[in-house]
Amino acid sequence: MKSFVLQNIIRKNILALKPYSCARDEFKGNEGVFLDANENPFGNLNRYPDPYQSKLKEKLSQLNDIAIEKIFAGNGSDEVIDLTFRIFCTPGKDKAMMFPPTYGMYKVCAEVNDVETIEIPLNEDFQINMPDLIPYLNDEYLKLIFICSPNNPTGNLIKSEDIEFILNHFLGIVFIDEAYIDFAGISSFRDKIEMYPNLIVSQTLSKSRALASARIGIAYASSEIIDYYNKVKPPYNVSGPNQKAAFEALTDGELFVNRKSAILEEKQRLQKELPKIPSVQKIYHSDTNFLLIKFNNADKIYSELIAMKIITRNRHSVINNCIRITVGTPEENTILLKALTELNN
Ligand SMILES: *Cc1c(COP(=O)(O)O)cnc(C)c1O
Repeated sequence: MKSFVLQNIIRKNILALKPYSCARDEFKGNEGVFLDANENPFGNLNRYPDPYQSKLKEKLSQLNDIAIEKIFAGNGSDEVIDLTFRIFCTPGKDKAMMFPPTYGMYKVCAEVNDVETIEIPLNEDFQINMPDLIPYLNDEYLKLIFICSPNNPTGNLIKSEDIEFILNHFLGIVFIDEAYIDFAGISSFRDKIEMYPNLIVSQTLSKSRALASARIGIAYASSEIIDYYNKVKPPYNVSGPNQKAAFEALTDGELFVNRKSAILEEKQRLQKELPKIPSVQKIYHSDTNFLLIKFNNADKIYSELIAMKIITRNRHSVINNCIRITVGTPEENTILLKALTELNN
């Protein structure tokens, strides 16, 4: 079998790209009289931020025992996903694969970048339909396979044997979105990037680190792949205040652990209480901080909850009669349970 060669799957114009060299690339250091970047000399947020987020990456490197060169930080995972298309897919020619129902941004980004999508629906157990997938693995135009694990909106982990099979048999990029991995209680595929040169693992500080507003997405991959992200990204893609917020969130390990256990405890409570509500038909297994719930009439329940100012995510259009509900604070969950009990239909 042929082996993976990174240069073969990088877009030609990206291979040839000479990246923008910003003022902060040429001089590194914090001390001095800075007259190089046309910044305003007054104020608190007047200086451009570190383009490579060194402090943040040092923290991630220590926490996860991985070299800084194998870490990329983006303006949310959404930027990481978009850059992935721009690095690997030639518009109008290349293709990307995904397994719906899944996170909507893979398809939106594909369309924005004029990349054809191959969509293979998950099977009844919300796992990858391997027999349907296998014939596509040799398609020379297929550059990216997106695997969301745990998957949004179904909530379950994808079988690691299936992921490894794809990693071993596909000569393009396997992008594993682990936005919810901290809630899943298993180890990340990040630990396998040495083994698989075609693997990119994406994580985010938006969920388990409670930092959705700061927009911090992380990619882990070989240093060769990360070099391409650094070449293609806008120079100052993560703002100074957001780099700082991310560093602080990663430093406070105790707060992280306490919040996570509070969420998991509340999830258990919802899993225990929700089945007592007559309109609830089924609660799917969840490896995340949300629950996918089948109701007798999702559209109706959803609108009635909205009328009570309780906002959930109606997924009826993608999974029959299902609503996705995020685990909230104890007070919020009590309000939800009370409302659903009152609706009682
Ligand atoms: C919430 C979520 C993200 C997070 O995206 P950010 O841009 O980092 O906030 C990524 N992937 C999935 C599957 C998600 O559900």
